[in-house]
Amino acid sequence: MDVRQRRASQIGVSEQPCGVCGSANVVAMTSRAVRRGASWVNPRFDPAPRTHDLCRDCGAKHRTENGVRV
Ligand SMILES: [Zn+2]
Repeated sequence: MDVRQRRASQIGVSEQPCGVCGSANVVAMTSRAVRRGASWVNPRFDPAPRTHDLCRDCGAKHRTENGVRV
């Protein structure tokens, strides 16, 4: 069984407003997969952290790369 978990933590405040509701109450988040179980021996496991902007008003997520939305 390959259970993947991701841990997210806030890394800052987004400079861009929410694309869904227009709120400026948006935070930049980073999340990374937590290796556990079979993922330790999985050569295709990708531990690279991912980032996204999270709107704290409506909950919308906007994926970001290097701080820029994609
Ligand atoms: Zn929003």
